[in-house]
Amino acid sequence: MTPKVIKTIGEMRRLSRQWRREGQRIALVPTMGFLHEGHLSLIRRARKAADKTVVSIYVNPTQFAPGEDLDKYPRDFERDLKLCAEERADAVFFPENHEMYPPGYQTYVFNEHLSDKLCGQTRPTHFKGVTTIVAKLFNIVEADAAVFGQKDAQQALIIRNMARDLNFRTNIIVAPIVRENDGLAMSSRNKYLTPDQRKQALVLNKSLRYAEKQWQEGLRDMARLKADIYTMISARNACRVDYISFVDACTLEEADSRSPEILLALAVFVGTTRLIDNVLLRR
Ligand code: AMP
Repeated sequence: MTPKVIKTIGEMRRLSRQWRREGQRIALVPTMGFLHEGHLSLIRRARKAADKTVVSIYVNPTQFAPGEDLDKYPRDFERDLKLCAEERADAVFFPENHEMYPPGYQTYVFNEHLSDKLCGQTRPTHFKGVTTIVAKLFNIVEADAAVFGQKDAQQALIIRNMARDLNFRTNIIVAPIVRENDGLAMSSRNKYLTPDQRKQALVLNKSLRYAEKQWQEGLRDMARLKADIYTMISARNACRVDYISFVDACTLEEADSRSPEILLALAVFVGTTRLIDNVLLRR
């Protein structure tokens, strides 16, 4: 059955209130659309966590800086809706900008410390847009659970933190990274890559797998691993490293020998497309 398409906040609130009155548990999957298997895995996870699943599809302008790809961000609502139907989502919340940011809009949610690390260095206003839109979605849907992808590890951590700090009732679930058969992490932005860039982009996953293997074999010299990854990526002429970081998976502070869980995260420009990927390294 085609999910109910909801364009207004009022209608979304009414539906989720009705479900709650009926004793149904609700899970939310926030996305920017142009859905791929990664998003669909989140919908499946949401369906396990609750009785009703809401997928939001909204290209949130406040998380894009001027000069970023807001205008050319890929969109295909009809296809997205079909995929949501196949995954048996119950509702698709698909608001327009004037609904989410009406004239006079001036209030933002800002996470202080996690947001200025990793991607925050290159995209200093990005996470303020993310926390603001997710907080709004949490208030509108009042879901019992919301599902995010580990692909955006920093985003998931910031949202966990926000939900705790601001006492949202929504439980945060983080689902694993879904990859193409050749290892490239799925992303709506992969669509920007030319066939040659698409091949070169494999170095992101390859370098992470290399580091993971070295780690499993006992190598703990993070400076050396970082240099190796840098060399591997820079050898590809379309690729330019934005960052390669070994950070504590909870604080995003630079990892040291005592960090119990380390996030190895990287961002690489492949041509003009900025791709991210990561792996968790356990002691
Ligand atoms: P986006 O539409 O890019 O904003 O992503 C919406 C949600 O899907 C976020 O929670 C992402 O982390 C998640 N996501 C995107 N790509 C993947 C992937 N390859 N595997 C798992 N989750 C993903």
